[in-house]
Amino acid sequence: CTFESMGLDNRILRSLKKMGFKNPSLVQSKSIPLSLQGKDILAKARTGSGKTAAYSIPIIQKVLMAKEKSNIKGVKAVVLVPTRELCEQVKNHFNQVSYYCQQLVSVVQLGNDKTLDEQKGLLRDIPDVIVSTPTRLVQHLENKTIQLQSTLDILVIDEADLVLNYGHQNDINIIKSYLPKVCQCFLMSATLTKEVEELKKLVLHTPAVLKL
Ligand code: AMP
Repeated sequence: CTFESMGLDNRILRSLKKMGFKNPSLVQSKSIPLSLQGKDILAKARTGSGKTAAYSIPIIQKVLMAKEKSNIKGVKAVVLVPTRELCEQVKNHFNQVSYYCQQLVSVVQLGNDKTLDEQKGLLRDIPDVIVSTPTRLVQHLENKTIQLQSTLDILVIDEADLVLNYGHQNDINIIKSYLPKVCQCFLMSATLTKEVEELKKLVLHTPAVLKL
């Protein structure tokens, strides 16, 4: 399959071309069509497989579609990653995939060394996508500087095995309590450990399981 055959917005297709992405990787060709259909996904995918675009492309597509229908502001997607460094990388990746629609898709990353108060300023103009470590997101949810209840469409937990290794299980439980009842979820993990299987039961509903 090709990116063109997936029915993606032309601005995304142009951005992918600019990034040098000619054909989808295996994880992308399997997960993008399923996620556009609204399926929950558990993908066993390591760094280098193209897993970041496997979730960023459907997220940006959905943000663009939502903006055509309504201009009500609200966080549409949250991406949880295990480390601050990864927050920055994933945010930069989102900016590249939305290069030709950057004024429509705002992405904030909360993995920087700014204080909670400084980040509040960043969040005042509500972003479409938030990339964060679980701990920082919990702090903002508890401070009510981020609301997800009525607008969130997609939650991604990237490198889920590492997120759990770093002891974030309890943060995920707390985050879950702030999510809307219906919300599409993706788990990306290099290994499918017992803990990841537990997380799958907690956040995924009849997911497509991609073991690549
Ligand atoms: P990731 O697994 O998401 O960390 O991606 C690994 C690397 O592969 C990154 O440098 C991406 O820019 C690159 N990449 C991902 N998907 C594609 C693709 N479809 N075509 C070419 N390069 C890609």
